[in-house]
Amino acid sequence: MQAMRMVFLGPPGVGKGTYAKAVSREFGVPHISTGDIFREEIARGSELGRRVKEYVEKGLLVPDEVVIEVVKRRLAQPDCAKGFILDGFPRTLSQAEALDTFAPPNLALSFIAPDEVIIERISGRRICAWCGAIYHVKYMPPKYPGICDKCGGPLIQRRDDRPEVVKKRLEVYRERFTPILGYYRDKGILREVDASEQAPIVIPRVLKVIREYYGIE
Ligand code: AMP
Repeated sequence: MQAMRMVFLGPPGVGKGTYAKAVSREFGVPHISTGDIFREEIARGSELGRRVKEYVEKGLLVPDEVVIEVVKRRLAQPDCAKGFILDGFPRTLSQAEALDTFAPPNLALSFIAPDEVIIERISGRRICAWCGAIYHVKYMPPKYPGICDKCGGPLIQRRDDRPEVVKKRLEVYRERFTPILGYYRDKGILREVDASEQAPIVIPRVLKVIREYYGIE
């Protein structure tokens, strides 16, 4: 079977991270989220973290050369030999073109949901400060409020999930994404997934699209 080299595309809050985690578990390919990498580096106070902090907290794009280098290094790790799920990358046409020079994806999944659904999802999203697990106060609540089911860590709201930043991120998304979708459509590897329902409905749908695409029984 060919390596599953996938990119997950869609607006912030559409559920890419949640679907990517499920796909990663199901098929044993690593889930690589550039946003998670940056948040970890910021929390650790590393040099990379210091370079990207301001962009991430304001919902602005980190410069292409920085992101591309981070992704290139991560995809060179041995666990990516079987494939990968890129979540949050590419976000610009130059990132998509750069990716083709070192790890060309063979499936681009575009997740689609109306703006009202997205805003409701983002405003209720909470993540574990320790392990990055994702929750929603209404749709995917933890067993005990404010505490991660998996590791007991504190659940927090991402600084960039605050309403004033979300609006900016949706604007940035709209402006940048149309050409990227066109880029993958022209290559014939774009597939769309309706993500307007809740995760328990969308996840099986995503798994089915992937199984059919790669011819997995
Ligand atoms: P995310 O978790 O994917 O929403 O990413 C959070 C933030 O990290 C974004 O708002 C950007 O500031 C930064 N970021 C993540 N991925 C990229 C990327 N591919 N290009 C530029 N900035 C990125």
